[in-house]
Amino acid sequence: MNYPDTRLFIHGSWREAAQGRWLDVLNPASGEPIGRVAHASTADLDAALQAAQKGFETWRDTPPIERSRIMHRAAALLRERADDIARIMTREQGKPLAEARIEIMMACDIVDWFADEGLRVYGRLIPSRANPWVRQMVVKSPVGPVAAFTPWNFPINQVVRKLAAALASGCSMLVKAAEETPASPAELVRAFADAGLPAGVLGLVYGNPAEISSYLIAHPVIRKVTFTGSTAVGKQLAALAGQHMKRATMELGGHAPVIVADDADLDLTLKVVSAAKFRNAGQVCISPTRFLVQRGIAEEFATRLAERAQALRVGDGLAETTQMGPLANPRRIGAMQQFTEDALERGARLLAGGQRIGESGNFWAPTVLAEVPLDARVFNEEPFGPLAAIRSYDTLDEAIAEANRLAYGLAGYAFTRSLQAAETLTRRVEVGMLWINMPATPWPEIPFGGLKDSGYGSEGGPEAIDAYMNVRSVAVNCES
Ligand code: NAD
Repeated sequence: MNYPDTRLFIHGSWREAAQGRWLDVLNPASGEPIGRVAHASTADLDAALQAAQKGFETWRDTPPIERSRIMHRAAALLRERADDIARIMTREQGKPLAEARIEIMMACDIVDWFADEGLRVYGRLIPSRANPWVRQMVVKSPVGPVAAFTPWNFPINQVVRKLAAALASGCSMLVKAAEETPASPAELVRAFADAGLPAGVLGLVYGNPAEISSYLIAHPVIRKVTFTGSTAVGKQLAALAGQHMKRATMELGGHAPVIVADDADLDLTLKVVSAAKFRNAGQVCISPTRFLVQRGIAEEFATRLAERAQALRVGDGLAETTQMGPLANPRRIGAMQQFTEDALERGARLLAGGQRIGESGNFWAPTVLAEVPLDARVFNEEPFGPLAAIRSYDTLDEAIAEANRLAYGLAGYAFTRSLQAAETLTRRVEVGMLWINMPATPWPEIPFGGLKDSGYGSEGGPEAIDAYMNVRSVAVNCES
């Protein structure tokens, strides 16, 4: 399948932008343009908002069982089309084909799970204090049309986590996905349209992110805002949502600590963390980042992690042998350069990588830095790339204090054979998701979200449905 141009999806049809504007889409493996995406103006947004309102009125009154059937059909279509869509995703985002395919298959599981969970949204009855003829009900109803803003690192998954929960709840959704990776989310939308989703229930627009978000969040049609991206942008959008009293879910950046105690199973630890660190070239909000390793094993851990990093085959994601693709855009290469130079200037030791690979495309060698000082930028700001930064510690208390030092609180990892240490970590590490002696398991049924500057709200489990529901109480005196 050739890489397609991406149009806007408004009221059930694909259309060019009203002013005929387009943006180029680049292949991160070559830096060359591969296609275009339509750039919406206010006229397009107005049409999309009107459609979202109409779509909401239809979908809200569609029986949950019918919503569920359409969602399952969409998941089945996505599964059938997974190979073609994976090629589109790899061409625009860079990740290896196998990772793109896993992302799509996981998206299908998310849609299926929420399709079923939407059948179990119940209210409740509360006995009256005074009058047995009074029926007091708790009624849950969908919040209304939702505006969703998603990034380029998981072009489909970041959309589907929001979309599946919103549709299962009876909301319509207007998505502004990332301009850098527009065509694979468009294929997700196409699967829903082909599955019979009524016109207006789902819209897709692209353009200038700041203009679109400020217009949609302030607009009275939009009743809820959901954003995944950097903490800095998340704070701006949350403030705007607050100003307009809109409900909001914020899935923001992370800086995951990885605590490795000297009683850990080192083979297991290295297998888990090296796979997690370099997946999607480290452009993952739950990517392990600050490696805190107990002093007795720190040298061995660092050496073995560096060996694994050096052995990775970096290349075009379309090649079968590639294990790590390019970074999604040239900005990330500049960022990796700065993080690495800064750490080395402050006294860190470079054990692997540390430089760009080749002249074309955004390839960065998997990088391992040891003895990284606390004031190095990489130990404070989210690197969002294939960069592992290691420090040693002496006591668990010290490691926990470091884990909690930053304002981020998304994911955390720990490796220890001590149950007592595991329980201490469970109680004290301030993250929304903690994995001990295992890789991350962001399954649809598990709450997914952060604490502190990593945002609020959940995009997994029944909590994700609650985020799209209003809870209301209704009392009826049935005496008359
Ligand atoms: P960025 O902050 O410019 O953009 C991040 C995402 O937000 C992009 O998809 C962008 O289109 C969108 N965005 C930016 N400004 C917006 C606005 N005013 N309204 C609506 N959407 C807006 O950063 P970037 O250079 O694209 O990415 C680098 C940083 O973003 C990383 O360091 C990382 O912290 C963060 N990020 C996080 C995730 C995540 O999964 N949490 C995903 C992608 C990027």
